[in-house]
Amino acid sequence: MATNIPTRLYLAEDELPANWYNLRADMREKPEPILHPGTLRPAAAADLEPVFCKEPVKQELDETIRYIPIPPGLLEFYKAYRPAPLIRARFLEKALETPAEIYYKHEGTNTSGSHKLNSAAAQAYYAKEEGLKALTTETGAGQWGSAMAMACAFYGLDLTVYMVKVSSEQKPYRKALIETYGANLIPSPSNTTDAGRKILERDPNTGGSLGCAISEAIETAVKTDKCRYVLGSVLNHVLLHQSIIGQEVKAAFDKYGIKPDIIIGCAGGGSNLGGLISPFMGEKLAGKSNIRFIAVEPASCPSFTRGKYAYDFGDTGKTTPLLKMYTLGNGFIPSANHAGGLRYHGMNSVLSKLHHDGFLEARAEVQTEVFDAAVRFAKIEGILPAPESSHAVKVAIDEALECKRTGEKKTILFGLTGTGYFDMTAYMAYNAKTMSDYIPTDADLERGFATLPDIPRTRRFSL
Ligand SMILES: *Cc1c(COP(=O)(O)O)cnc(C)c1O
Repeated sequence: MATNIPTRLYLAEDELPANWYNLRADMREKPEPILHPGTLRPAAAADLEPVFCKEPVKQELDETIRYIPIPPGLLEFYKAYRPAPLIRARFLEKALETPAEIYYKHEGTNTSGSHKLNSAAAQAYYAKEEGLKALTTETGAGQWGSAMAMACAFYGLDLTVYMVKVSSEQKPYRKALIETYGANLIPSPSNTTDAGRKILERDPNTGGSLGCAISEAIETAVKTDKCRYVLGSVLNHVLLHQSIIGQEVKAAFDKYGIKPDIIIGCAGGGSNLGGLISPFMGEKLAGKSNIRFIAVEPASCPSFTRGKYAYDFGDTGKTTPLLKMYTLGNGFIPSANHAGGLRYHGMNSVLSKLHHDGFLEARAEVQTEVFDAAVRFAKIEGILPAPESSHAVKVAIDEALECKRTGEKKTILFGLTGTGYFDMTAYMAYNAKTMSDYIPTDADLERGFATLPDIPRTRRFSL
């Protein structure tokens, strides 16, 4: 029971999970397939391989293999920074005077500062194995670019990062970190691609967007020899790599006999949340538990809570395959928000399906209240969370206070996805009380929905 549980739930090196867990294998109702944008038929590996690395493509389309072994050459790298700490928030419990037990999985202790390194390392590893020489990617808030730069330095690959221009100006230290690890950083839009030039012609002063940076990175990957594109969220193989988070928590909870009642994670494209909940959701789908799962998104970019469940492109340039997901429309431009890593228009298709079918709840939170929770957590627990992670902190506190009201002794787990050290501009705005809470109007959302592709039902290949 609780008294024998240490504050940090340790896993020894030989207790580390050796497999990723592919939740789709245990979903009776599978998520909708990825569609080729030209034929509108389910995409095959051959459609995706010109852009993505081979093994991740295989994983992207795999709906049957439950446990996928983590290759030994990658596990070695994981062991350098994993297991990520799993911590009992005893000080927070006490401060809230809640009967609830609160645990958090801290993914922010590696140098890149977030969970993104888990998939970055996997994708760089597979690229190297495949004999590729270079990768391209985009980065918004900078965490993914940092993680890829670290991973490519380790596995000896060249990397070009298209960084959303405003972000590269607002986050000079992220830019410096990426460049320190040897990546070639290009503020986007740029004149190095047709996609970038087209956008610059139309709007020379644009600060750029994630969708535009994706288009640039894909174009460069396709035009460069022995080069592929990598993405840090949204896609199923990224979620699979992130299942290391949930697998570790599950191993530790089983070891100490802990059963969670509520699991909470922030959701941008859904990879950390999906990775954290996967093994537990598998049990719920099998009828073995009744855990509540809560996705937390920013009120400024509310894909789950106000989006449409529809096929959409992953990028503004409309070049990617079509994904069935909760989306605000590929042309939706979220207002500037300090939780930059959550500003994506869509959501992973596995999580979208689970939300649609009632297995995953979703909540939207406003920025200033998220920062109230972040600062409270920092003062009580000693860890400064990333703004993205703080969305989960906010809801974990709310749920613990609800337990206080009802007297229920629930066990709450949340994902602390990253450190806030590179987000001090955001904390400065919060401290100076200049931070605002912009919530898109229905008219703003309609403009985004208008960019959804029209998929005629009759042309849809029926499965
Ligand atoms: C990117 C990022 C997120 C959101 O991405 P998901 O794919 O939804 O997990 C959350 N937290 C941090 C710290 C991030 O860097």
